[in-house]
Amino acid sequence: MPLGAVRQKLRSELETPRAQRPFGSGWLSGTLGLLAGAAALLMVVALRYPTLFTTPELAMVRGSAFFRPVLYVFLVAGFCLAGLSLLLRRDKTLGLAAMTVALLATGVGSLPGTAVQVDTHGAYFGLDFFVLNVLFAGLLFIPLERVFPHQAEQTVLREEWREDLFYYLISSMMVQVLAYLTLAPSRFILDTVQAEGFRGWVHGLPWIVQLIAVMLLTDLVQYWVHRLFHQVPALWRFHAVHHSARSMDWMAGARMHFIEIIVLRSLTATPMFVLGFDQSVLQAYLIIVYVYSGWLHANVELPVKFAFLEKILASPRFHHWHHGIEKEAIDVNFAIHFPLLDRVFGTHHLPKDRWPSGYGIGGHPVPLGYVKQFLYPFRRP
Ligand SMILES: [Zn+2]
Ligand SMILES: [Zn+2]
Repeated sequence: MPLGAVRQKLRSELETPRAQRPFGSGWLSGTLGLLAGAAALLMVVALRYPTLFTTPELAMVRGSAFFRPVLYVFLVAGFCLAGLSLLLRRDKTLGLAAMTVALLATGVGSLPGTAVQVDTHGAYFGLDFFVLNVLFAGLLFIPLERVFPHQAEQTVLREEWREDLFYYLISSMMVQVLAYLTLAPSRFILDTVQAEGFRGWVHGLPWIVQLIAVMLLTDLVQYWVHRLFHQVPALWRFHAVHHSARSMDWMAGARMHFIEIIVLRSLTATPMFVLGFDQSVLQAYLIIVYVYSGWLHANVELPVKFAFLEKILASPRFHHWHHGIEKEAIDVNFAIHFPLLDRVFGTHHLPKDRWPSGYGIGGHPVPLGYVKQFLYPFRRP
């Protein structure tokens, strides 16, 4: 079979409608096996060819004690899941693909290595960051969306998934540029405002108090910046890109205009960087906010017994109402961690047991595709 046909076959297998892949059909094991195999392959390549993966953060990850054990877990999981899928599924495409990737990872792993000093200076291409991002989020949210789906018929590769994956790619590739730009206001404040006493006091607070304070303060700034993006027409044209998603899942949150990412992140990051919080608190918060963004957009409906949590912490249903297409969903639920902020400022909207009927902006004015969406705010209304 030619390569193009294999790709086509694999894609149609991955896009199998939900009804045709019940639990035990070998679809989930094949898909997860493929993900685990791909993760193992990437990690092996990163280990063998360090010059290909020059992200300083990744060089650190690669050097850690966890790297090899995690790699073995992915490799073994890749083989086991591929085998399971081959046993269960009549169509062997997924199982064979997963097995091939796992074998390839083993093969690359057994090649003689080339240990070259990694140059951590200068710009780098964050493709590795992208793959890790997507694999991590995918491994976390795909099973979750399958076990507790809100819209059970929605598939992983739903409409416009390529566009949202591309947003993931761009923001991962620009991670260094984004970090530099978003830290600019904080650097300015740190250089001009002398408040070492206060910063020392904050730094001395218990760890968990610092974490909750970071979440509350960033969400407070985020709330007002977000609200401005809704209420100032010129800003709304940027934010409309985020609201143009017609399907909600863990990938949809990645859709955001580049300019908005810089403005929103640099302003919301200011309190966390200038007030003197401990480094470990900031690291924990960055992981929380990354996972939380996927969680808020995820196609997940909380089981009833956890519904009370929605009152304290923002849930997918809470943020889905922010994206709702109906009139009652306009300009509500701006918070991303604490719904309390919306209660205080009068924008809270969470009808009991109801979800919005659809997502997006009435009339769907935003065009499709990264470049068109990038240009959209600059065009005449
Ligand atoms: Zn919004
Ligand atoms: Zn959103």
